[in-house]
Order: sequence, then structure tokens, then C-alpha cells
Amino acid sequence: MAPIRRLPYGPLARAEAQMPLTTEEIALDHGFPGTRRSVTVHRFGPAAASADRPKAYIQAALHADEIPGLLVAQHILARLRAADAEGRVRGDIILVPYANPIGLSQAVLGTAIGRFALSNGVNFNRDFPDLAAPVADRVMDRLGQDAGTNVALVRQAAREAIAAWETATEADSLRKILLGLAIDADVVLDLHCDSEALLHAYTGTESWPDASDLVAELGCRAVFLALESGGNPFDESCSGLWWRLRNRLTTGRPGGAPPLPAACLAATIELRGRRDVDDAQAAADADALIRFLTRRGLLAGEVAAPPAPACQATPLAGVDRVRAPVAGVVLYTVALGDTVAVGQTVAEVVDPVTGIRHPARARTPGIVWARAEQRYTAAGAIITSIAGDRPLAEEGSGLLTAR
Ligand SMILES: [Zn+2]
Repeated sequence: MAPIRRLPYGPLARAEAQMPLTTEEIALDHGFPGTRRSVTVHRFGPAAASADRPKAYIQAALHADEIPGLLVAQHILARLRAADAEGRVRGDIILVPYANPIGLSQAVLGTAIGRFALSNGVNFNRDFPDLAAPVADRVMDRLGQDAGTNVALVRQAAREAIAAWETATEADSLRKILLGLAIDADVVLDLHCDSEALLHAYTGTESWPDASDLVAELGCRAVFLALESGGNPFDESCSGLWWRLRNRLTTGRPGGAPPLPAACLAATIELRGRRDVDDAQAAADADALIRFLTRRGLLAGEVAAPPAPACQATPLAGVDRVRAPVAGVVLYTVALGDTVAVGQTVAEVVDPVTGIRHPARARTPGIVWARAEQRYTAAGAIITSIAGDRPLAEEGSGLLTAR
């Protein structure tokens, strides 16, 4: 077991963390009397915000009832500890093995409720702040023609903007902690899972094809691209800052924006379905992520070229969310991984009053990558998702309904 140091959160912690590995507990604010929740943070590398080293941030189970990531995180932790003992950590790596202590405590009558805050129904992976405006205010007159200097200025401004965020709820306190740890990273990986699903990922349109080796290493069967998915999930708050900021700075500037790359590759990785909790599979997923981190210079070592991709990227707006035509019993007529045609029946919903079977049909051709695990559905609920390659919806229009 590695030594555990408990450090205050903030610049002091980073300055003091001149040791290969530290583990700290960061307390959430605004809890109920007599309760105290915290997140555990594992840091590898000497400083979390140094300019000349790549930084990666990984968290698991922001939706606290999505269990596969909790197990994968433990396998990653073991591999990082081994790499650290061998002196192979080359960048700064932060691992948050459980990102949502609020959700992890929401066990209700034998059922875990980890996606929404029971206090107000808000989805834990929504409503992260859009930092483009406060960061633009801070850097507007300071950016020059050197992209590297601009990136450093933006990261510093983003850290300041988050530090200035005065939260009022425990959930926002959690969002502030997580975003504060991740916002200046080159790579942000948010480990989730779906209901029943193939391994898939979400990332920014500007992060593609940069993220293609990540997707190929994992063997993702679908990857969805968007600039604005709507709802501002965690990954988009990190990566979207860069293109939102560039848009802001371009507007009203005759010469255009100063050079500002999309300096954060953020991805939400959906580790299959809720029941896909398997030790060997989790170890293989962790190995894939370690190979990716090695290729990106976070860890020393040789790594082979990634395997051929198992899918093509498609627009998030092209996802066909097939909804139940009536309430009733769901009988799927397609399996995960099936390729369907337009108009094909993907499920029948049996009305338990009349016995009539109502077909739910595909609106787009593509691969079936997710199904609802519940076999009883409400009318209008999403029961199947298909990866289409042509947009069916507008960017920014609540594309993450099922996420
Ligand atoms: Zn999730």
C-alpha cells in the first residue's frame, strides 16, 4: 500500500506534492449536518499543473450506479502504482476512483440511484459550468501569437475561474472539485456505462481523429461526436472550453482569434452495460487505457500501434433513440451489434391490457449499440439506440437524453 498524505486542496497541495504518489481526500461542502463526504484523489507525477509535462485526468462512476468503471479504476491504479515504483511515470496523472460520493450513498430500498441527485432530480453529469465567458474575460487582451503560451494562459484563467465559483449545493461542490482537478489536463477520461450496451465513447468533434487511438485501443464499437451535446456534461465542460472560447474570441476580432488549439482531449467512455462487471474484462480495459497513456507520453515505455478501429465515428446527432410506442412489456427483436435498416422493427411492446404487440421501428440504418435493460417500459421511453451516420437532431438540443 502506498503512503497516504492528506493535503489541503489547491495550489499548496500541488506545490507540496513533490513526491511520486500522493493520495488525498477532498471534502465536499454544503453537506447535511453530521455528514461529511469526500472524494479520494490519487496523484502520480511531481506536479499536477506543470507546463512542460502532459497531464491526464481519469475518473470513474460520476453516475454512481455505473459500476464497471469503479473496477477498471482499481486496475488502472494498480498499474500506475507499478509504473510509479519502476520510475516510469513521465507526466502528471490524476485518478479519481469514485467520482460521486453523493450518488454512492443513494441506496434506496435495495436499489442504487446514482444518476440523479435524490435531493432535486438533477443528473450528476449535467450542468457543469461553461467557462468560456469567464476565461475570455481573463485572457481577452493577453493572448498573443504563440499557441503554447496561449494554452498556458487559458489553463491558468480556467483554474482561476473555477476557484472563484461560489457553490451553494453539495452537488455543485462536487462538480467544482472534479472540474478543478481536470480542467488543465491534456487528456480527460470519464468512465461510465450504459444500460445494456456495446463499448462506446463520446468525444468532441474537434477531438477527432485525435481520439481515434483511444477508441481503437479500447475496441469501441461506436464513437459519437458533438461540439454541443446540450446539458454540459463533464467531458464537454473540459474540452468544449477550447472551441467555445475560440468562437468568443473570433467574434468581433477583425484579424480572427489568436492561435488556440483544442488543448484538451476529453472523452466519456461507456464501459458497456451495467451488468458487464467482469474482472478479466476490466483488467483488459485498464491495459488498453495504460497503452493509450503510454502513447501520449504519460508513461515511459514502448507501445505498439493501436489495432484497426472497430467502428467509424458518427455524429451524436445521428443517434436514433427509438422510443416505446406504448407502455408495456418489451420484447427485443434485435441484439446489440446488429445492423438494422430503416423501418426495421427493433422491438415489440406488448400492451398488457389488450395483448396487442406494437412495433418500435428504426428511423436510421446503423448498428444497435444500446438497449434498455428493463423489460417493462413507459410510453415514449427510449428502449434502443442506433448509431446512424446522418443527423436526426440539432447540435445542442439535448442529444444526451439516454446518457
Ligand atoms: Zn453515465
